[in-house]
Amino acid sequence: MADINQLVLMRRYFESGATRSYSFRIAQLKKLRKALMEREAAFHAALYQDLKKSPEEAWVTETGFLLSEINFMLKHLKEWMQADQVPTNLLNMPSSSFVLKEPLGTVLIIGPWNYPLQLLFTPLAAAMAAGNCVVLKASEFAPATAAVMKEMIEQNFAADYILFTEGDGATVIPAMMNAFTFDHVFYTGSTAVGKIVYKMAAENLVPVTLELGGKSPCVVESDANIKVAARRIVMTKFSNAGQMCVAPDYVLVHASKKDALLKAMIETIQQFFSLQAEDSYNYGKIINEKQFDRLLTYLPEGKIVWGGRNDRSKLFIEPTIMDQVSMDAQLMKDEIFGPILPLISFSTKAEALNIIAKHKNPLAFYIFTSSTAKEKEWLSAVPFGGGCVNNASWHLTNPHLPFGGRGYSGTGGYHGKKSFDCFSHQKSIMKTPTWFDPSIKYPPFKGKLKLFKWVIR
Ligand code: NAD
Repeated sequence: MADINQLVLMRRYFESGATRSYSFRIAQLKKLRKALMEREAAFHAALYQDLKKSPEEAWVTETGFLLSEINFMLKHLKEWMQADQVPTNLLNMPSSSFVLKEPLGTVLIIGPWNYPLQLLFTPLAAAMAAGNCVVLKASEFAPATAAVMKEMIEQNFAADYILFTEGDGATVIPAMMNAFTFDHVFYTGSTAVGKIVYKMAAENLVPVTLELGGKSPCVVESDANIKVAARRIVMTKFSNAGQMCVAPDYVLVHASKKDALLKAMIETIQQFFSLQAEDSYNYGKIINEKQFDRLLTYLPEGKIVWGGRNDRSKLFIEPTIMDQVSMDAQLMKDEIFGPILPLISFSTKAEALNIIAKHKNPLAFYIFTSSTAKEKEWLSAVPFGGGCVNNASWHLTNPHLPFGGRGYSGTGGYHGKKSFDCFSHQKSIMKTPTWFDPSIKYPPFKGKLKLFKWVIR
């Protein structure tokens, strides 16, 4: 746990103004990039140890992802830091107006275990780009990756600027948040813990970004390209053994295409992961016994139409598709967050929307259809964070698309410029010349109502 005196030192360092200049921010981001690249092999080994990620998967979803976010920041930071000139309304003429971008101060970033590097260090890079001091709290459940991150931070950055903390979140985070008023808390993790963090932050009116989970539906319409839908759903649902916040949680398939989709998904699973997924280079493992045991309780809740084999000693659960799952089953209440995919058929859109509505504000939503009209209908019918048409999960890899949830799936967003905005305060300024100071704006007001109505309308 962080020594509270250390947090006070960080605040002093921030207040010294050292982190504010463009040159400082660029130099630190380059240092972060260099340190990351020097540790590519160490990170890939650690991610294999924690989650059995191949170097290729680790590059796409962790190291390479982070690198491309840092490169995007390095390319655009100058433009993002500039004040935005905005128009001025008639009432305030001849003033000028602009918005300054100011760092928030000393911020706390809390990460989960499923993408332990990317989900802690992408917000870190953003907070650095925006000129903040940063306290990092890594998940205790991906210890190999946390060890490399800790070494990397401590070797490269002074503790007054970036402080790495770890340990049991339920102890460490309240201890820090109750003793020190952070200027922002950026939390990624479960909705349940998100509520706890939100409450602690509210105590001191600390602004938050909450990147939470939920049950993300995936709809396959009667006119979808089934072969492509199967490949894209299988790819993201079983990547990282289903432990992905934006993985399709369940599939709602039009009744006329259910058999075809099931057949195509089973073929695809075999192509991607073979009949021995436990030995597949492309297939990960469950993070720990607790998660493994939780996932296993879902298997009796329906008919397993593919998969279901498992081995606790290897934390292996085969890519699994389930049919005949009751809407009252726990499987349809919890966020699954593992390699189990319920396949549910629907005949009418209303029927499908009823199921989706049981879990308000999913983080993601996916619609597979070849009809633009249907695409539009679905996208407007469901309130969700972000999503894809004829694809799944890849929206979060485009830095031009802000990423985040709404309501139950989170508050605020990041990626690309939105990351910089997330860790900056937008300070609105009006500048008014003194050479023009009409008395009409000052008392006495009597008789000026008509004029005011003309100016303010
Ligand atoms: P988690 O909520 O258990 O833990 C996240 C972090 O919170 C960890 O660092 C942990 O130490 C800390 N923590 C745990 N208990 C705490 C407490 N009582 N008070 C304060 N902090 C505490 O989440 P997880 O299991 O690591 O991650 C899985 C969840 O995260 C899933 O729900 C998933 O959907 C979600 N998630 C969301 C995103 C996103 O970008 N929206 C990304 C990844 C994961």
